[in-house]
Amino acid sequence: MVRVSRVQPDSIAAELGIEPGTELRTVNGRDVVDFLDWEFLTADDELVIEARLPNGEDVIYDVERPEGEAMGVDLEPPTIRRCANRCEFCFIEGLPKGLRKSLYIRDDDYRLSFAYGNFATLSNLKDRDFERILEYRLSPLYVSVHATPWEARKVLLNNPKVPDVVAQMRRLADGGIQFHAQMVVVPGLNDGAVLEQSLADLWAFGDAVISTAMVPVGLTQFSHLYTGKTMDKPKALELVETAERWAVRAHRERGHAWVYGSDELYLLAGRDLPDIGYYGDLPQIENGVGSVASLRHRVRTEAASLPWLGGLRVGVVTGMSMAPLMPELLEQISAATGAQFVLIPVENSLFGPTTTTAGLLVGADIRRALSGRTDIDAALIPAETINDAGLFLDEETFAGVRASLSVPVQPSYDFVDVLRDPEQLHRDVAPVAAAR
Ligand code: SF4
Repeated sequence: MVRVSRVQPDSIAAELGIEPGTELRTVNGRDVVDFLDWEFLTADDELVIEARLPNGEDVIYDVERPEGEAMGVDLEPPTIRRCANRCEFCFIEGLPKGLRKSLYIRDDDYRLSFAYGNFATLSNLKDRDFERILEYRLSPLYVSVHATPWEARKVLLNNPKVPDVVAQMRRLADGGIQFHAQMVVVPGLNDGAVLEQSLADLWAFGDAVISTAMVPVGLTQFSHLYTGKTMDKPKALELVETAERWAVRAHRERGHAWVYGSDELYLLAGRDLPDIGYYGDLPQIENGVGSVASLRHRVRTEAASLPWLGGLRVGVVTGMSMAPLMPELLEQISAATGAQFVLIPVENSLFGPTTTTAGLLVGADIRRALSGRTDIDAALIPAETINDAGLFLDEETFAGVRASLSVPVQPSYDFVDVLRDPEQLHRDVAPVAAAR
C-alpha cells in the first residue's frame, strides 16, 4: 500500500476524488507495495484501482487514462531500505553525534539507485527484488562495487554475509540491466591487484557497465571504525594513473573513457584535471566526477554573456580543496564583468580539517567566514551546502545565517547562475537550482 500526500489540481486523481491520505492498494489486481509499483502498474491506459479513503471507505476506481496523462498524485516518501554492511569508511559512521536523525540513516536501496542515482551495494537484495528489477527494467542502477573479489569485498563492507557482486550483476545484466559502478578505494584493501581484478571483471561485463568511478576514501575526524591507511598523494597519483591507463584502452576499444578518477582523486594527486570532453556525457557528475571540468566549461563559455558589474566586490566562500582552482575562474569572470572577487577558503569546523570539500561546509563555517566583513558587498557560498529544506548539515538554516550577516549571501553552483541576474543576491530565497 502507498499513501497519497498530495493531489494535483485538475488531474485525473482530483477528478476521481482521491485526496491526501488515501491509501492506494492494488492496480489491476496487483498489490501496490511502493512507489515503483505505482509508477509501473499505472503505466497502462485502463486501470482498476482499489483504494481506501481517509474516512475508511473502500472504493474501486475504473479509469481510462488518456495516453500520456499523469494520474496526478504525489506519494508519501517510501520506507528506506537499510544497509546491512558496516564499512569502516562509511561517511555516516564519520558523522559527529547530535545532528538530525535523518543524516544517520544508512540507506542501501536499489529503488533509490534507479530513481535518484543513489549508490547501492546490492548486498540486501532478495530474489523478489531481482524479479522486480528485471520486470520493471530498473536500469541503469548505480552500484557501489568497491571490489569484485568476494573475500576483499566482505572485508571492505565489513559484512561476512555479503553476496558475490559479480554473480548478482551477471544475473541482472543477463536480463538487460546496465550499471554505473563506483569503487571507493581504501589503500591496502582494494588498490593494487584487487583493483586490477575489479576493473577487469567490470570491463568483462561489456556494455552492461556503462561507467566506473574511482573515488578516494574520504574520512572525517570522527571516522571511528577506520583502521586502514590514509590516502596520500603518491597513492592518489597511482590510482589516477591506473584509471587513465584503463581509459586509454577503453577509448581505443569502446570510444569513451569508461573509468574515471574522481575530481577529488586528481586534486589529492596534484594532477591537472581533464577537460570536459574527457568525461563524455558526464555519467557520474553527481559523484564528483567531472564537476570541476563542468564548472570550468560553464565559466569559459558563459562569462562573456554576464552583465557588467563594475565595482561590485563579491566574496566567494569555498572549501580548502577547491580554493587553488578558483583564481583562474574568478579572473575570467572579473575580466568579463568588472566585478572584484575576494576568495575566502574555509576549514570545516564540524568534520575537521581532513574534510576539505566545499559542499560539506556548515552554517557555522559560513557565518564565521563572512561575519563582520567590510571588504565585500555580497557573497556567494557553495549551493551544495544547503538541502531542499534550506538547512546546512549542522542544522543552521540558510535564512538564519543570511539574516545574521551584514552582506547579502546567495548559494551558487557555478557563479554564472547568480551573476547573470545579480538581483538574486538580494532575494531571500535561493532560486539558483531552478535557474541552472
Ligand atoms: S554500504 Fe557501507 S558506506 Fe554505504 S551506508 Fe552501508 S556501511 Fe555506509
